Amino acid sequence: MLRITNKMNRLGTESAFEVLSRAQTLSQEGKDIINLGIGQPDFKTPPHIVEAGRKALRDGYHGYTPANGIPELREAVAFDLKKRHKVDVDAEDIVVVPGGKPTMFFSILMFGGSNAEIIYPDPGFPIYGSLINFTGSKAVPITIKEKNDFSFNAEDILEKITPRTRLIIINSPANPTGGVTSKLELDKFVKEIVKHPTIAVLSDEIYSHMIYGKETHTSLLQYPEIRDQLIMLDGWSKTYAMTGWRIGYAVWPKKLIPHVTRLCINSHSCVNAATQYAGIEALKGSHTLIQKMLQEFDSRRILIHKELNSLSSFKCRMPGGAFYAFPNIKDTGLSAEEAQDLFLNEAGVAIIAGTSFGKAGQGYVRFSYANSRENIIEAINRIKKLF
Ligand code: PLP
Repeated sequence: MLRITNKMNRLGTESAFEVLSRAQTLSQEGKDIINLGIGQPDFKTPPHIVEAGRKALRDGYHGYTPANGIPELREAVAFDLKKRHKVDVDAEDIVVVPGGKPTMFFSILMFGGSNAEIIYPDPGFPIYGSLINFTGSKAVPITIKEKNDFSFNAEDILEKITPRTRLIIINSPANPTGGVTSKLELDKFVKEIVKHPTIAVLSDEIYSHMIYGKETHTSLLQYPEIRDQLIMLDGWSKTYAMTGWRIGYAVWPKKLIPHVTRLCINSHSCVNAATQYAGIEALKGSHTLIQKMLQEFDSRRILIHKELNSLSSFKCRMPGGAFYAFPNIKDTGLSAEEAQDLFLNEAGVAIIAGTSFGKAGQGYVRFSYANSRENIIEAINRIKKLF
């Protein structure tokens, strides 16, 4: 009998992958499934980015690279941050990793432990809670409320701080709710958090480009007073439709760079070289196709909001960012899990139960609108027929 460590029993998962696999099995059995479950753009990586990756392979970039990423890529990220957020970032403070997730893993490993408390959003990306539990830290959820359009509330976070708080995780635009936190709320948060210099903040800004309507994205990088506390996570997966390439980055406090770099060397060594060259082209090359993709997401956002609210027992707030809608389905009388199963098995529509993102997700389900307008309309018509 093999004896794995107890920690393994505390590691959670991301249900989107499980629902995807069930949806794929049903498709293979010949069922007509519309997948509004998975969180990845339904667009291909723009061809000029693919070509940059192919060129790097043809040019012989087949070996290891520096663990923190090739200098040219980190310079391109610094330039992009200057352009988008009007901030100066030293390329040495940027660490390129295989996707958004490794930054979460490394920061939670770095600050987690049996005496630590980590504050995180609920509902929120499921990996936060999973990793916090894995490290044996106390997971301290902050409820993200529908009545606030799923923006987080600075006071809700601040009142959870104790002498054991080591890390606070925030995410805007947010998965699974599409909520966007305003600059005003971030101002309030920063004003207080700066008084707690021993607490690190992980700001997950992976959806920073996907923000619609009047709102614009405020990055926590725009607050120089917390730069020594801040880990700002962003990446290519969502913005450039590059989920499968596995590339992301974070800006870290300078003092933590040697620690992150060692974590990289101990785990994945480096991101593959071709992907890093593709990453440079993504940042520096034409953004025409990306703009088109974002406009399409915006149109679908308006469409899905209207369609979901046409279901009499659904109430859906207008999502401000990412590509998710998070309707309240309490009036259907179904639990989030029952709705997930019913919609998949009886209507052939894959969506994710809100509880996959935390306890506060009960009574809600997540619809991803990374699918065509026709499929969105068809999926909601199918659900309408169920009631
Ligand atoms: N952060 C959030 C909020 C996400 O929703 C996701 C992916 O769904 C990630 C990070 C991870 O992105 P990646 O695929 O680059 O690891």
